Amino acid sequence: MLEVQGISLGYGSTLVLEGVDLRVEAGEFVSLVGPSGSGKSTLLRTIAGLLTPQKGSIRRGCTQEEIGFLFQEDALLPWRTARDNVALGLRIRGWPKEQAWKEAEAWLERLGLEGLGNRFPHQLSGGQRKRVALAQVLVLKPRLLLMDEPFASLDAILRTQVTQDLLALVEEEGITVLLVTHDLEEALSLSDRVYLLSQGPRARIVQEYRLPFPRPRDPIGVKADPRF
Ligand code: ADP
Ligand code: MG
Repeated sequence: MLEVQGISLGYGSTLVLEGVDLRVEAGEFVSLVGPSGSGKSTLLRTIAGLLTPQKGSIRRGCTQEEIGFLFQEDALLPWRTARDNVALGLRIRGWPKEQAWKEAEAWLERLGLEGLGNRFPHQLSGGQRKRVALAQVLVLKPRLLLMDEPFASLDAILRTQVTQDLLALVEEEGITVLLVTHDLEEALSLSDRVYLLSQGPRARIVQEYRLPFPRPRDPIGVKADPRF
């Protein structure tokens, strides 16, 4: 689904990444872990096509339209309801309003937010907003989902609930995932494979770690409670 070969990239004269290689197979959940400032966001933005590398190549097994992004800060429009926020991308793609709303409601429900479609972002908790942001991305049926520390702002229990629900959904939908995080524990609990990026500047992939057993589906038995 994704092949990155020998990527080097800098801002001005400062080289941030030097000779980064990584691969993500279709259906895999891969994490990229590295210290703050090492260049994780730079690498993900490059993979997303938002930055152009000075050296190296990127091959994607899907189109730009089939890539979904989730950033640390959600991009919900404060003056639109949760339903409208989720439906927006479908409307841009030309879906009629009623149909887009119906699909948005279905995704809100899949994320445990049934009945909250009329709420505005400020009327939702942090965890619920994160679920709306997820619905906003998943409703567009991405084949490759790129996430840049999307759960960093959530506390540990909420993070476990949201990530476990996400894991179930990407599996049901057959979505390939590349997750950037500085949290090695989170990466190990979710991924098939983990890449470690060295301390910047001139960060490189220093290790590739394949989990020796199937990833745990629900490691501590936490069930999502959408009230939070
Ligand atoms: P991470 O996501 O791992 O914390 P980043 O990719 O955000 O790291 O940043 C890597 C390095 O590049 C840091 O030293 C950061 O200060 C620098 N950097 C990031 N974005 C820019 C930019 N737009 N212009 C100049 N330097 C940047
Ligand atoms: Mg970052």
